[in-house]
Amino acid sequence: MVITKRQKYIIFIIWLFVLPSGLLLAYNLFPALKIDWLNLAVLFALLVVTMTMPLKLNNMSVSLERWITFTAFFQYGVFVELLFTQIAMFILLFTRKSDLPPMYRFCVNSLIFTLVSLVSGAFFHYAGGVIGTSDFMNLILFGLLYAISYSVINSAIMQLYLYFETGMLTVKEKYIVWDFAVTMLLFPFSIALYFLSDLFGNKAILLIGIPFLLVLLIVRRYNQSNNMNDKLYSASIIGHELADRIGFEDVIRTFIKELKNVVPYESAYVLDLRAGEHLITLMGSEDGILTKDISGLSFNPKKSEDDGLNMDRPKIYSTKKEASELKHFKFTGQLGSIMTAPIKRNQKTEGFLILTSKQKNGFQALEMKIVDVLTGYFAISLVKARYYEKTVEQSERCGLTKLHNFRYLDAKLDEEIIRFHTGEITALTLLMMDIDHFKVINDTYGHQCGNDLLVALAKLLETFVPEEATLARFGGEEFVIALPNYNKNETVRLAEKIRKEVAFSAFRIKPDLTEKREPIDVHMTVSIGVASVPEDSGDAKELLRNADRALYIGGKQAGRNRVGVYGKEYVETL
Ligand code: GH3
Ligand code: MG
Ligand code: MG
Repeated sequence: MVITKRQKYIIFIIWLFVLPSGLLLAYNLFPALKIDWLNLAVLFALLVVTMTMPLKLNNMSVSLERWITFTAFFQYGVFVELLFTQIAMFILLFTRKSDLPPMYRFCVNSLIFTLVSLVSGAFFHYAGGVIGTSDFMNLILFGLLYAISYSVINSAIMQLYLYFETGMLTVKEKYIVWDFAVTMLLFPFSIALYFLSDLFGNKAILLIGIPFLLVLLIVRRYNQSNNMNDKLYSASIIGHELADRIGFEDVIRTFIKELKNVVPYESAYVLDLRAGEHLITLMGSEDGILTKDISGLSFNPKKSEDDGLNMDRPKIYSTKKEASELKHFKFTGQLGSIMTAPIKRNQKTEGFLILTSKQKNGFQALEMKIVDVLTGYFAISLVKARYYEKTVEQSERCGLTKLHNFRYLDAKLDEEIIRFHTGEITALTLLMMDIDHFKVINDTYGHQCGNDLLVALAKLLETFVPEEATLARFGGEEFVIALPNYNKNETVRLAEKIRKEVAFSAFRIKPDLTEKREPIDVHMTVSIGVASVPEDSGDAKELLRNADRALYIGGKQAGRNRVGVYGKEYVETL
């Protein structure tokens, strides 16, 4: 949720007006009983300690202040309870993370609870509840009414606020249920503290106050280890997921996406360190969107030693001020803290992971340790992905000319035929060419020179290949160009251009077979055949066969250095 300046301003003005009136109202309508200052101080101390120990339940942070504020209410009435709750809301700013601006957050919470305190307090009073009573039943009955209305009114106002803030009615059932359950659970503790204080005075905190906090401490420990277990579990999932990915980009995407389950971040960036000195962005995640075109971070591409980025170890910059150590990195948008981690392979830093959080102290040391382990996995997966992609690339290319090979062409043609039949492309034409009398060239200058000529011809052909087309070395000295969205006439024109260009070019080679090995210019010609889908053929094999026929009959048989077009005349001849 983005809060505008205007919203902040309005809420502040309302707060300035409502809180003092609320306090005044509470003071006048429900005057406090005579205050036992020592007792109040004890309650206050319990409140502060309780507030520093929020619990994480079901991914929500829950503070248990109500067990004290209710006791304060039963003992002294609305005014003291209201004050206590306001103080609790203030402490909350420091103990619970949120990306809302603190002042705004405090004002909203303060407003909500001013209303909650007043309304539920009024319920208690007007229903017949008595403050400071020693009548057990009176307190149980009206206290329960108070506790129930407290939670219900709180949830109702909360929903109302969310509705005004977002314009949508989204019922936060989880929040409502937990708020109610926690309130009901705390109620008997408040009652117990109240009556024990009545009986034993301030010593009562030894019986219930301190034991309550100790139990809370144990639950929190358990909670934290559960939280850690969850994180480790998510981390192990990342390990498995990475092992399953084989594409380079796929690995990066998976890593960034899954990492959010371990370390909740706002933005994530994976930078590559090229040759130990150049930084480039491989991928980023901003507003939950994975992109190479990042906007939240800019940096100096030349890595320098004093840019603050730790080359050896992960590091947390807990505040914006600390983050300013990263001198050459500029973050746009709200920034509270940063985590950086080197991506290392064989003890060498190959890149960096940078995570940002909107909150101050947004990252924990435990999370950093897990990130340290995960970047290791990540680095290995990246290497594996690179090898894999290189192997695929090699298996699809000819070792001599570096053009696509037959295997690649074969698969590509099947794909193109499907694209044609599904209407994705409107035409598909094939251009097949064979060097004329290449055997003679080999015999005259040697096979090595033959190879050099094949490489030179491949280079020349590459300059003729349109964007979507595929050029492949079909066999020995045969080449094919598959042209989607090219009709026969266009292809014949292209074939003619290529034929002429080859015929007029001089290819410089160093002959192996002559004694002097002086460079000489060799001329050669090619014959070309053209066939297309759907006029000439239905499938890939037929298309290749017909282009070959056109090449043989219209090119070679017709005298070489010619373009043969597959058509009626050839079908009849064959
Ligand atoms: P034409 O096509 O005009 O009928 O005559 P040609 O001499 O080119 O005959 P053909 O296409 O039948 O022969 C292909 C020759 O190409 C045979 C072989 O010596 C040569 N060749 C095939 N692959 C390679 C290669 O990778 N390197 C070299 N140097 N020569 C090759
Ligand atoms: Mg041949
Ligand atoms: Mg030939």
